[in-house]
Amino acid sequence: MTQSTFAQIGSALREHQRFAVLSHVRPDGDALGSQLALGLSLQQLGKDVTIWNEDGLLEKYGFLPGGERLTQPRAPQDFDVAIALDTATQIRLGTAGESVRSAKTWINIDHHPSNPGYGDLVHIDPAAPATGQILFELIQNEKLPIDRGIAENLFVAISTDTGSFQYPNTTARTFEIGAELLRCGVDVGRVSQLLYENYPRRRTELLRELLGTMRFEGHGKVASFSLSLKVAADLGVKPEDNEGLIDHLRAIHGVIVAVFFEELADGKVRVSMRSKSDAADVCAICQKFGGGGHKLAAGARVRGTLAEVEQKVLEAICDVINCNS
Ligand code: 5GP
Ligand code: MN
Repeated sequence: MTQSTFAQIGSALREHQRFAVLSHVRPDGDALGSQLALGLSLQQLGKDVTIWNEDGLLEKYGFLPGGERLTQPRAPQDFDVAIALDTATQIRLGTAGESVRSAKTWINIDHHPSNPGYGDLVHIDPAAPATGQILFELIQNEKLPIDRGIAENLFVAISTDTGSFQYPNTTARTFEIGAELLRCGVDVGRVSQLLYENYPRRRTELLRELLGTMRFEGHGKVASFSLSLKVAADLGVKPEDNEGLIDHLRAIHGVIVAVFFEELADGKVRVSMRSKSDAADVCAICQKFGGGGHKLAAGARVRGTLAEVEQKVLEAICDVINCNS
């Protein structure tokens, strides 16, 4: 991979006209906020912008400025430039990536260390806590348009991927950018309430079920819970209801690795992992199962029943952290 500079990416953004702004399936706040921030900035530059995500705009993020512009792809289209944001592998773009019939240039902007660097212009900064933070630097360096709406999208991207400016990858620069975004007009109280105090009751009912399956391994160093298709159907769970529930396991004293197992309809299990220690690199563990992510937050989709996948994955974790003492 040759790392591209902001100047090279900035030129490509100014020179071309038709853009597709994409991000990963099962998007989180960083994915959606990043897509909308860059999409709106390009629109203000006078560009033709298509903002696609396989899952569309999640209900939970319905308040994001410009959200109505983010759609599910319907038919393949041709573009000058396709931009993948926050997406560790091209395959994770799902139908949004497949619907780009052609693009002269692919831009890949991300912060996942496992990103192999696909595309023509590549900027990967594993030290950045959120793709939204990289985009802020790009916008500032290249003097791209920014207004309150763009700032709010960037704030949501950064706040959600840093656990509200708490995770260890949060830097002094992250707080400086937060301050800049507030100066652009972001109302931190309002946005935080919409993000963190506005969940459907269903989500807490789901948490109650999950806690009923909670188990511990390795003298309390590994905590996990699981969700079967049946329970998900009974509760009417939406995929986005899961986001953040794993933090209840990580928050427990003594827990180093937290795992969430979710049975999927395609015979696979979605595994979501969090770590509290650099010594337990959950990205490396998930890569053994074909997944990836970050050192302290990673995931994979593993074929098998819930019970089979739980056993295999918990064993793999115990191979890495000493579960016997
Ligand atoms: P989450 O547990 O919130 O779904 O994902 C945590 C992190 O792991 C995210 O940064 C996400 O990109 C990454 N991740 C989750 N699932 C997968 C997967 O199946 N494959 C890869 N490569 N990364 C994943
Ligand atoms: Mn991210």
